[in-house]
Amino acid sequence: MTDKLFYLPRERFQFFLTCISNHCYQCIGPQLRDGAILYEAFTSVEALPKGYRDSQKPGEYRVKQNGDQRFFAWANGPQALKPLFFAPEEPMWRAHKNDEGFVVDGLLPETKSIAVIGARACDLAALKIQDKVFLQGDYIDPYYARRRESVFLVGVNCTHSASTCFCVSAGNGPRCDSGFDIVLTELDDGFVVQAGSEMGGIILSELNLGTAIEEQILLSNSATEYAATTQTRSLPEEDLRKTLFANLHHERWENVAERCLSCGNCTQVCPTCFCHTEAEVPALDGNSSVHMRQWASCFSEGHGYIHGMQTRPEITHRYRQWLTHKLGSWHDQFGTSGCVGCGRCMTWCPAAIDMVEEVNIICGGDRFWQSGEGAL
Ligand code: SF4
Ligand code: SF4
Repeated sequence: MTDKLFYLPRERFQFFLTCISNHCYQCIGPQLRDGAILYEAFTSVEALPKGYRDSQKPGEYRVKQNGDQRFFAWANGPQALKPLFFAPEEPMWRAHKNDEGFVVDGLLPETKSIAVIGARACDLAALKIQDKVFLQGDYIDPYYARRRESVFLVGVNCTHSASTCFCVSAGNGPRCDSGFDIVLTELDDGFVVQAGSEMGGIILSELNLGTAIEEQILLSNSATEYAATTQTRSLPEEDLRKTLFANLHHERWENVAERCLSCGNCTQVCPTCFCHTEAEVPALDGNSSVHMRQWASCFSEGHGYIHGMQTRPEITHRYRQWLTHKLGSWHDQFGTSGCVGCGRCMTWCPAAIDMVEEVNIICGGDRFWQSGEGAL
């Protein structure tokens, strides 16, 4: 990452996208779809959610027009970067009969070089965690690896936090500190920009931008500082792994299980959850079969079924498994927490379960729990 900060006037943002596209990247960026902001392919700046703001709390998400010119003044919607690299459903191989028996063909995905425009700090942190899971262990996942091969990442520093965000206490935001090719901070009339890689530097040099002046840098710093200081939720400042495992029989596990529907929404929207299941889908003529992989959830009944035995028969066990893995044993497996503080599991929970509230109570009761509308 270079220290040099440039200024990109808003009216040149389309040229910025064109420069990226000229390097054969397909731009994927935030767009308003069915009342939520999602990532989709686009070419024109007109597709961005200009002037939209979000409001979020456990079990609730709304977007509304504010009428200003900003493209990125909302906090993350339901879609993380996860589905771009770890497909929700995909074929892994196909077996078919021939004259000598049967043949198995690997089915690696067809991919394009993509540029993700607008990745937030929490999602860049989550991508690093997923890279550890899929690319850095004893076994490399070829499907994930293929999709990660040629990706250009344009990060955006958050200037607004949702009430569900807690990236500051998770140690991941609201500024992007690494993992991007270019990072932007949006101001009223343009963007303070910085390169984070050689390719990012090449693209910025093609834009021929002026250096950011002191006032623009100060505005950009105070905007992200505002996003940080207005976060109302935080994780307890202690060894969560130790404390959660010391409280496996806390009465709160039963309490949360009475509210949890075991629907798995939290795991689907979570940018780091990686559980999946595999199944054969045979052709009706019996001559071929495709082996499919699909996202799965530790909240489903089948997930804990091993050798004829259900290891997590009650919702209490499943919620406890999810939270203790995310914040506890994830450290043993991957040397990091499995939670980046994006807050999606709360916003998209139909029962409005607030995992920050749950973990604060389980770890120490009211002495730690001081959030706003979620307070006891
Ligand atoms: S915590 Fe919420 S989103 Fe997760 S399984 Fe339970 S009800 Fe569904
Ligand atoms: S556990 Fe919740 S807050 Fe943490 S990364 Fe997953 S969705 Fe985001």
